[in-house]
Amino acid sequence: MEKINNADIRKYTTYKLEGKVKAIYFPSDVLELKELISDFKDKKIKYKVIGNGSNLIISPNYDGVLIKLEKFDKLNINGNIVKVGSGYMLPKLALECAYNGLSGLEFASTIPATVGGAVYQNAGAYGFSIDNIIKEVSVLDDNNEIITLYKEDLDFGYRDSIFKHKKFICLEVTLELKEGNSEDILKKLKENLESRKEKQPLEYPSAGSVFRNPLGYSAGKLIEDTGLKGYRVGDAMVSYKHANFIVNVGHATSEDVLKLIKLIQDKVKEKTGILLETEQEFIE
Ligand SMILES: Cc1cc2nc3c(=O)[nH]c(=O)nc-3n(C[C@H](O)[C@H](O)[C@H](O)COP(=O)(O)OP(=O)(O)OC[C@H]3O[C@@H](n4cnc5c(N)ncnc54)[C@H](O)[C@@H]3O)c2cc1C
Repeated sequence: MEKINNADIRKYTTYKLEGKVKAIYFPSDVLELKELISDFKDKKIKYKVIGNGSNLIISPNYDGVLIKLEKFDKLNINGNIVKVGSGYMLPKLALECAYNGLSGLEFASTIPATVGGAVYQNAGAYGFSIDNIIKEVSVLDDNNEIITLYKEDLDFGYRDSIFKHKKFICLEVTLELKEGNSEDILKKLKENLESRKEKQPLEYPSAGSVFRNPLGYSAGKLIEDTGLKGYRVGDAMVSYKHANFIVNVGHATSEDVLKLIKLIQDKVKEKTGILLETEQEFIE
């Protein structure tokens, strides 16, 4: 199985924070994945499955290994039913579906996630999220057995799913889309991309929104009103374009990002009484 020792974390996360991880494994199929998990369990090796690393802050002190399912990238489109491997990139899937005249993934063209990472997080935008189109998911459960879970078993909520609460691995996802007009769908994808480029600092490495929006508030607006746009800790900076983004303007470390997160939380709490909750995940 492909494996990289002493891997550079910058290559596997969209924040591109400095640091190395002991090893990253790239299983080719579910049999290899099962063997790997079983071996890690026997040897008590800490492991974490990652997608595109677009929601992660990985500590350079993390003493486990990573598993990346980029080879789980099969795609099968049969009418309006789409079966896709969890390592497939979501924007690429949105485009493929658009070419096939399938509507439902227009929201997803701007989310730099894998299908597995999107299901874990119930990723969404513009009032849509991936749970709107899920039929079923093939899963490696915590006993290392393959099971099928249907939409109603997946406990979807706002940026939440069963995967956040159980050590399940998403292998393959079945989506049910609607038939639509290819040109209209492609036009919508383009519009979404353009509006994102205007509003978000896509020219810098980041991991998207740092904080969840508290009920009835915009986290970005709360941060902006605290005067923190452009505030820096090392090379981690609150974006001028969108205050709910921390961008890496050079060689930021996870420590820089975590210090900046704490500072934002303290300042916003002091000014408004609201404690911002992070959306990004810290792996240590
Ligand atoms: C520029 C930018 C814009 C973004 N915009 C949005 C947005 O509009 N909406 C939104 O919701 N998010 C957005 N995000 C955040 C991010 O893309 C999502 O949280 C996404 O769901 C993460 O997917 P990933 O594949 O990168 O997962 P990772 O970041 O690699 O992992 C996230 C979590 O998913 C788990 N995971 C990954 N794959 C699997 C699997 N196969 N089985 C089980 N668990 C798995 C990991 O263990 C980890 O806990 C944005 C990020 C960026 C950088």
